[in-house]
Amino acid sequence: MPAKPPSIFELMNEEEEAVSEEEEKKARRQELLALTGVKDIFKDGKTTINKFTCVGAQCRLCINVCPTNALYWSGGEVGIIDDLCVYCGACVTNCMVDNCIKIERARDSGKTEKFGKVYDIVKNTERLNAKKRFDRVKANAVIQRRLYREKRNVRLSM
Ligand code: SF4
Ligand code: SF4
Repeated sequence: MPAKPPSIFELMNEEEEAVSEEEEKKARRQELLALTGVKDIFKDGKTTINKFTCVGAQCRLCINVCPTNALYWSGGEVGIIDDLCVYCGACVTNCMVDNCIKIERARDSGKTEKFGKVYDIVKNTERLNAKKRFDRVKANAVIQRRLYREKRNVRLSM
C-alpha cells in the first residue's frame, strides 16, 4: 500500500522543529563563544581537516594558534569542535601542509570564500580590497560629477 502523504500540519510541525533546532544550535554556539571573548563575524562556514595529509604528531601548530580552542588533539589526530570555530583562518595560515585544512565561509553580504593555503588568503584579501577601492573610487566619481553639474547649473543661471 502506498505511504500516506504527510498532512500540511505535519509538514508545518517538521519545519518548526527544524527552525527551533537551528535556533538552539545558534544559541549554544553563542554561549560557547561568549566564554572565549572571540567575535563571530561570519554568517556561516565549514572547516575540514584532512587527516591523511596532516603531520600532526610532529606539528600541532594549528591547535596552538586557534583563538577559540576549537582544535584539539585526540586519538592521534587533530579534531575540531564545530561550535567553536569562527572560520578565522589562523589555523590555515600556520599549517605547514597546503590544503590540509580547508575553510569555506560566508559573509553577511552573502559573499563566500574558500581557502586552504596562505596564497588563497592573500588572493581573497586582495580581491576584497580591490572591490573596496573600486567602490570608493566609484562613490567619489558620483560626488564629483554631481558637484560639477551643480557648479555648471549655477554658472548657466547667472
Ligand atoms: S597545522 Fe596542519 S599539519 Fe600541523 S597539525 Fe594542524 S592540520 Fe596537521
Ligand atoms: S578557523 Fe581554525 S583557527 Fe580559526 S577558529 Fe576555526 S579552527 Fe580555530
